[in-house]
Amino acid sequence: MKKIALTIPAFLCFFLLAFSQQSELLTNHLLEPASEPFQLTPVALYSSAQGDQFSLALTGLLQQKTRQKKVLVYTKQNKPVELWFFPGTSNKKALVIGGMHGSELSSIEVANTLIAQLATGEIPFYNVLIIPSLFPDNAQTAACDTAARVLNNTGRYTGQQSADPNRQMPAPGQPFLIRKPLDAATREIETENQALLQLIQTYVPDRLISIHSIREHNKAGVFADPRTDCNGNALGFDTDQQLALLMACYIGSAGGISPGNNLDAAPTALYYLDPPIAPEGKKQVRSYQLQTRAGRGTGVSLGTWCSTAVCGITPDYNRPAIRTLTMEFPGYLIPAELAADEDQKKCSAMIELYASSIRSYFLQAFLVEEPMGETLLAER
Ligand SMILES: [Zn+2]
Repeated sequence: MKKIALTIPAFLCFFLLAFSQQSELLTNHLLEPASEPFQLTPVALYSSAQGDQFSLALTGLLQQKTRQKKVLVYTKQNKPVELWFFPGTSNKKALVIGGMHGSELSSIEVANTLIAQLATGEIPFYNVLIIPSLFPDNAQTAACDTAARVLNNTGRYTGQQSADPNRQMPAPGQPFLIRKPLDAATREIETENQALLQLIQTYVPDRLISIHSIREHNKAGVFADPRTDCNGNALGFDTDQQLALLMACYIGSAGGISPGNNLDAAPTALYYLDPPIAPEGKKQVRSYQLQTRAGRGTGVSLGTWCSTAVCGITPDYNRPAIRTLTMEFPGYLIPAELAADEDQKKCSAMIELYASSIRSYFLQAFLVEEPMGETLLAER
């Protein structure tokens, strides 16, 4: 009996990993010829000289205007954090992030499905960088727990003492400094998040979406973080909300679900745990400000940091508030983990739909942002 208990999980784990490798091979094939990775290693990220190399490599990637797959950084277990680039028809820039929480394997599936869609479909309006799995070590931990990974949230945290990956950002309004990689609570930011923050700071996307999954299906949907200036004053939520709801409506109209958007009664792009949206010009309360005790689940989220403009003491790092969406896919499970054919099909269809909402709306010319810096130029 004991032998079987050991054998079955190992087999299933192998199956899951083989499945993900197979889809990786497929998309690699679609993007041939394969390209060389960025000359980036975790060591490179700690050196200011190599930091310049980062921005050079990124500029080179964007200028080539061809579909490419690179390596953003290598993890502790020496896994590559993949960075895919798909050129757009405009000069606008988008960023898509999957797997901030390794436990949410379906979020990684949504990102990989988007990559497959873009590899064979029309060129999007936005140039887009996609990180399908930001914490691949944690995702593997999740995939290898075939006992109760959803119940235990296996793979959410990197270690027993690690802060939540989505609570490791600098204080809102402050830049990320590679020479002092500390979050708002002065904890060291994990390597994967350091690379992500450096990427955001160098790339400065016009819009970004972080794909998550949520265990309670009735909370799933597409949400937006309210943008503010660097002092936390609201810049207006309307267009951010419209974009999120456009995506949610598409998902709903095509047979999917996004109950957290409450489309039938009072449509909203406000995540259920977030404080109310402040009127334009008024102070926007953020959820981290309501936290009453310290812990690994407290800190500043990616959404809060990105949607807040940066105007720190180092002008080089200043940037506007970025339009920031958060997608919550219904459930952690991927089709390969479901027993019944019917359930697998339903899950695959939902993953396709969530990915299509990004491809067909988020990456197309809907609610296009004003050119960055235009307001400043007009004032001169
Ligand atoms: Zn998550």
